[in-house]
Amino acid sequence: MLRNDTLDQWDREAFFHPSTHLAQHAQGEAPNRVIRTASGCHIEDRDGNRFLDAFAGLYCVNVGYGRMEIAEAIAEQAKELAYYHAYVGHGTEASITLAKMILDRAPDGMSKVYFGLGGSDANETNVKLIWYYNNILGRPEKKKIISRWRGYHGSGLMTGSLTGLELFHKKFDLPLAQVIHTEAPYYLRRPDREMSEAAFVDHLVAELEALIEREGADTIAAFIGEPLMGTGGIVPPPEGYWPAIQKVLDRHDILLVADEVVTGFGRLGTMFGSDHYGIRPDLITIAKGLTSAYAPLSGSIVGDKMWKVLEQGTDENGPIGHGWTYSAHPIGAAAGIANLRLIDDLNLVENAGRVGRMFNEALQDAVGGHAHVAEVRGEGMIAAVEFQKDVAAGTFFDPGDKIGAQVAGKLLEHGVIGRAMPQGDILGFAPPFSLTESEAAEVADKTAKAVAAVLG
Ligand code: PLP
Repeated sequence: MLRNDTLDQWDREAFFHPSTHLAQHAQGEAPNRVIRTASGCHIEDRDGNRFLDAFAGLYCVNVGYGRMEIAEAIAEQAKELAYYHAYVGHGTEASITLAKMILDRAPDGMSKVYFGLGGSDANETNVKLIWYYNNILGRPEKKKIISRWRGYHGSGLMTGSLTGLELFHKKFDLPLAQVIHTEAPYYLRRPDREMSEAAFVDHLVAELEALIEREGADTIAAFIGEPLMGTGGIVPPPEGYWPAIQKVLDRHDILLVADEVVTGFGRLGTMFGSDHYGIRPDLITIAKGLTSAYAPLSGSIVGDKMWKVLEQGTDENGPIGHGWTYSAHPIGAAAGIANLRLIDDLNLVENAGRVGRMFNEALQDAVGGHAHVAEVRGEGMIAAVEFQKDVAAGTFFDPGDKIGAQVAGKLLEHGVIGRAMPQGDILGFAPPFSLTESEAAEVADKTAKAVAAVLG
């Protein structure tokens, strides 16, 4: 086994990490961490530290770490058939079975599953399918995609454009011209503090209508949104938001993409976020929870309406010109099957709803009354605590104070991983669905200690 100091040196010399301050990492000025193993909700690093991972990696290890059922399914698949492609009608028992299992669980009106590797490429696929769809329908001008500020849809060229966070655009020449953004359904940050939740929804609808009017409905192909906004702050939508938005989109013949990379397969206590909020999507993006991150796999679930047109397209133009070498990779598919079976067998969606509710309540009890806590919010097994300088006046801290990051740092000292969300002083949680009641209480209790250490 390599020595820790050798690993540290090689890490600094050779490894280009995502979402990392490059110079500080390379020069050894920022801490690094080498994870060795994990089990249940806990991970262990090479220095012998053990943490309760209350963010499930990047909200993806939904069934928890160390599940031998999935590891064995991966090993069996690798031994029998590590790879074959999915082009020109090829498949494997694993990929075909998984497609069927996904459709059996999907909201009504879904027709087929296209497999990719991660959430970003699945959303790239979605945009290509949307453009293809409108070309086949003879509407070459209807191409723009509406996304929300603070939405997160990946970090490719198109998906990084859809993402509505400054860090993902700045100095990358994004967003691309085909992407336009509308306001986030973020009640705490409403434009007028006197606005009721219902009035805020009316305002968001009016903003969307105005955007469509300005651009022209005949130039807009689709609207993409996460049922519950994730990386942009972990923000459940205000009551009535989705039905109101859906109505506008239907009226203008604009497709709706539900990006369920975080919410798919149980995180809100329902199999899909679309079910939870009564959304009727034309496309659904899935990744993370599809395999609980035991292997990379994503998917675009295509609804009936689009599927019929895609079929017509290949009648007219030949095979669809879109594919990845690793589409429907058998090892990912085997992991997906074992993962979905485990979720069923252990009732993990129900657990995410029940323990998640307890966890949200425990967080509210622990820090909801603190003078600098503006909001404790969440749904199912996802939650956030947002800090403000003056809650009564609704003023935020100077971003340079890095309050969210400081609290997350203190929490880590107490052995719990939460995530300082990228835009605002927001501490996020998205534990594995297998979180126990006592682990939920422990996270809430240690969060209170971390908040007190930073903010008194
Ligand atoms: N969509 C959503 C809602 C996400 O949260 C993410 C990642 O966090 C993505 C897409 C991108 O997925 P990936 O990082 O697998 O490319």
